[in-house]
Formats: sequence, structure tokens, C-alpha cells
Amino acid sequence: MTSLSQILSVSAARHSHLCPRQVLGARIGLAGAAALGLDLPRQDKRLLAILETDGCFADGVEAAAGCTVGHRTLRIEDYGKIAATFVDARTGQAVRLAPHLDVRQRACEYGDDETRHYFAQLHAYQVMPEAVLLTIQPVQLKIPVEKIVSRAGVRVNCQTCGEEIINEREITIGGGHVLCQACALGGYYTPQLSEMPISVELAYSGEV
Ligand SMILES: [Zn+2]
Ligand SMILES: [Zn+2]
Repeated sequence: MTSLSQILSVSAARHSHLCPRQVLGARIGLAGAAALGLDLPRQDKRLLAILETDGCFADGVEAAAGCTVGHRTLRIEDYGKIAATFVDARTGQAVRLAPHLDVRQRACEYGDDETRHYFAQLHAYQVMPEAVLLTIQPVQLKIPVEKIVSRAGVRVNCQTCGEEIINEREITIGGGHVLCQACALGGYYTPQLSEMPISVELAYSGEV
């Protein structure tokens, strides 16, 4: 078991500073795994973390739980909230953790007489008892964890844009038409009419 201070030094080194949100991420990562009865750090992909924001908080969770985007054990549902759900991919059991709503006020009690809020929180979030710091709520995922994780090697092509879709992220509409989410629902971008003016020299900088 890695200690909180070791986790925070890993997180801070990646991040070039230590801040209260990293501490919350580390505490939530540790508490989330513990609530599921899973030891950390994990070498397998059994623990899936679904974070509700990116940024410093995510670095703290990653340092504590060892979940990463690259291993497909960390996902972001960007609600802009300091909160995370941890899922045992083997059993489907899931818990959502978030700081108590009054955590900033309570931090003063644990802030080591620090009058600057930021530094009071930085210290307090490391020492506050878990029950004072966090809420831990059992939840059920709307999409089963097997679907979220999907299977390696599954691939289809969108029948509108032709691009390949992996991990069963396609949408099948009436008549068995297989579409990517961008074509089916409208994506997060709008295609622009003009193409990027990439010069021939730039595109083929090597010898022709
Ligand atoms: Zn930060
Ligand atoms: Zn498409």
C-alpha cells in the first residue's frame, strides 16, 4: 500500500505543483478502491475510474489508483465536478465519491491554523477523516461495465463517413444502419468547407 504522501509526491512531480484538487483526487482514489475492497496499486484492469472532470483532480486519482486512459481504466464524463465513480470490472459493483458540500468550511478546522484558504485546504484535505471529507454512494451504471470496457478487436465502419469504429461505440439505427456517433447524433465539431491549406513542401518535406 502506497502512502498518501508518496502518492502526492508522484502527482505533484507530474504536475509541477501540489494543489488541493490533487489531494482530493488522491483521497478519492484511495477511498474508492477501499470501498470496493480492491488493493492498490493494481497491476490488472479490474478497477475502472470514471472521473467527472479532468485537470489536477485527475492527476491525483491517477497517482493513487494507477488508473490511466492508456490502460483504458480511466474515463472522463466531463460534468465539471470533483467526483468519481469506481467500478469493479469483475463484479460490476460501483461507488461514487465526492467531497462533502461543506468541505471547504470544514477545512478551517483541520487547516493547522493556516489563514490562507488555499493552504488550509491543501493541508486539511490530507488529514481530514474520510467520513468528514467524502461521501461514498453505491451506484448502478446505466451502461454495464462490460459494455463500457467492450472487447479488443471489435471493429465496424460507419456507413456514412466510412471511418472505423472500435470498442462497440457505433450506433445502429433503423434498417440495421451502422453509424458513428458523430454521424448519428451530430458530433462535437462542425466540418468546415475549406480544407486546411497544407503546402506541398510541408506535406512532403522529404525527397520525392
Ligand atoms: Zn493543480
Ligand atoms: Zn460516421
